[in-house]
Amino acid sequence: MDLGLRGKTALVCAGSRGIGRACAEALSAEGARVAICARDTGTLSRAAEEISRGTGNPVLPLQADLTRVEDIDSLFGEIRQSFGTLHILVANAGGPPPSGFLGTADEDWLRAFHLNFLSGARCIRKCLPWMIRQRFGRILMLTSFSVKQPIDNLIQSNAVRSAVVGMAKTLSREVAEHQVTVNTICPGYVLTDRLKTVIEKRARENQVSLEEAMEAGVDEIPVGRFGRPEEVGALVAFLASEPASYITGATIQVDGGLIRGLL
Ligand code: NAD
Repeated sequence: MDLGLRGKTALVCAGSRGIGRACAEALSAEGARVAICARDTGTLSRAAEEISRGTGNPVLPLQADLTRVEDIDSLFGEIRQSFGTLHILVANAGGPPPSGFLGTADEDWLRAFHLNFLSGARCIRKCLPWMIRQRFGRILMLTSFSVKQPIDNLIQSNAVRSAVVGMAKTLSREVAEHQVTVNTICPGYVLTDRLKTVIEKRARENQVSLEEAMEAGVDEIPVGRFGRPEEVGALVAFLASEPASYITGATIQVDGGLIRGLL
C-alpha cells in the first residue's frame, strides 16, 4: 500500500529513543522528511544519524525541552526554516513518575500537566494553522493504555493523559472539515529502555531474577510478550498516511490484548 508519505514533513517529539524513535523510523522509511526533538543533543544527533542511515532519508535533530515554551517556539521556528510547513505531528514525551493520590503534591500535578498535556497543546497550536491552510494534517497524540485501564500508583499519568484524550477528541471535531485528523495512540507494555529500567527495579525489589520479573510482566498480556516499539511506529505511519483520511477522533490501543474493557 502506498501511504503517500513521500515528501510529507513530520515532527516526532521525544524522538531520540524508544517509541518516539520507532515512530520517526517508520515515517522516514516511508519517505517523509522527519525532524526529531529531545533534550540531550548527543543522543538526539546519534539517533538522527542512525535513522537516516537506515532509511536513506535525512532526519533533522532539533534540541528542545518540551516543558519549556521558549524551546517549543524555537523548535517550530527551525521547522519553518527547514521544512516550510508541517504535515504530521507526533506529540510524545517522557512519562511522569509513579505516585498515589496522597503522595502527589501540586508541583507534581503541574509538572505532569506541563510534560504530558501542555507540551502537546503548544505544539498543536504552532502547526495547526499550517495544516488548515494546506488542507492536510495528521496529529497523533501518544499516551498510554492507562487512558482505558488506569495503572495503580501512576495517578499523574492516568489523570493527565485522560485529559489529552478529551482535548484530542474535541479538537478532532473542530478541524475535521479542514482535512486535519487527530487521533490518540495508547501503547501497552512496549519493551523500551524505560520499560527495561522499570522491570530491573521490580526484580531488585522482589528479589527475583530479571527473567522472572520479565515473565511476571508478560503474564497479563494475552499475546504473551511485550510490544516492540516498531509495532507502535507502524500504526503511527498508517494513521499519518493519505489512506487514513477517514480515521479521526479515535483512541487506539497497541497492547497485545492487555486492556480488558470492550472499547
Ligand atoms: P523512553 O524513556 O524510551 O523515551 C522517552 C523519550 O522522551 C526520550 O527520547 C527522551 O529524551 C524524551 N523526553 C523526556 N522528557 C522530555 C522533555 N521534557 N523534552 C523533550 N524530550 C523529552 O520512553 P518510551 O518507553 O519510549 O515512552 C514514551 C512515552 O510513552 C512515555 O510518555 C511513556 O510514559 C509512554 N508509554 C510507554 C510505555 C512503554 O511500555 N514503554 C507504555 C505506555 C506509555
